[in-house]
Amino acid sequence: MSHRDDERIDLKGAIPFALMHLACLGAFFVDVNPVDWLVCLALYYARMVGITAGYHRYFSHRTYKVGRGTQLFLAALGGAAAQKGALWWAAHHRVHHKFSDTAHDVHSPKRGFWWSHLGWILCKRYVSTDWDKVKEFTRYPELMWLERHYLVVPTLLAIGCFLVGGWSMLFVGFFLSTVLCYHGTFTINSLAHVWGRRRYETTDTSRNNFILALVTCGEGWHNNHHHYPSAANQGFFWWELDISYAVIRALGVLGLAWDIRTPTPRALRHRLIQKPARRRVRASRLPVPAVGRDAV
Ligand SMILES: [Zn+2]
Ligand SMILES: [Zn+2]
Repeated sequence: MSHRDDERIDLKGAIPFALMHLACLGAFFVDVNPVDWLVCLALYYARMVGITAGYHRYFSHRTYKVGRGTQLFLAALGGAAAQKGALWWAAHHRVHHKFSDTAHDVHSPKRGFWWSHLGWILCKRYVSTDWDKVKEFTRYPELMWLERHYLVVPTLLAIGCFLVGGWSMLFVGFFLSTVLCYHGTFTINSLAHVWGRRRYETTDTSRNNFILALVTCGEGWHNNHHHYPSAANQGFFWWELDISYAVIRALGVLGLAWDIRTPTPRALRHRLIQKPARRRVRASRLPVPAVGRDAV
């Protein structure tokens, strides 16, 4: 698949992204202490959950329901990762699912690994948001405000890191953690379509990968996800670690999330192309999820 003119890397537009990476090098010029590393880890996973449980499973796929306050919190938590607004993210992700690995896919690795990893983000074509693709959310002024001012939350977070821990916490706690969060997220568009095992016969190249699931709080079960995108869980079985789903279930226990969708028993067995476990398990014996509801 060839690239259009507006799919070339926009060098000027890529400067902030490059500077984020350069800022991490500041860590070599200051004394970094263990607290900075703890903040780096905590902000990485907190914001990854914002991206996966919020931007992806809530805003892109509406796999569960929340109230308006929680919705705003999810948009702000994901927004803290500096990956633009929830609706920009969701609108493009919906296109990915609709046209997975075809010429219309936003970021298929069939167009090159680096294109799928970050090339598509750095070109002009995908800068704007197709509001029609996320119109159920455009009636919320607070979400639209965050879309227009998507740098406010990450900037406040960066200032907070600096005020609390100085330069070292800014470089390691904020910049390094943000850049790691970028590439952790991007692996799902790149590596999760080329590295791992396929359980379900989907029409795309999606894979399941435990390491990517660790890095991305459960998104590494990407073949499961393409098989059944409307499920809040992407790890379908107990051995498939899915931290984001645990968070969503916790929100459910607290009464902050409801109608949490999981695959139907029939969907778990549909289009299986390999055994799911290290030990062979007959498809008819696959466990039934605790919470079940039909997909839309
Ligand atoms: Zn995908
Ligand atoms: Zn998805």
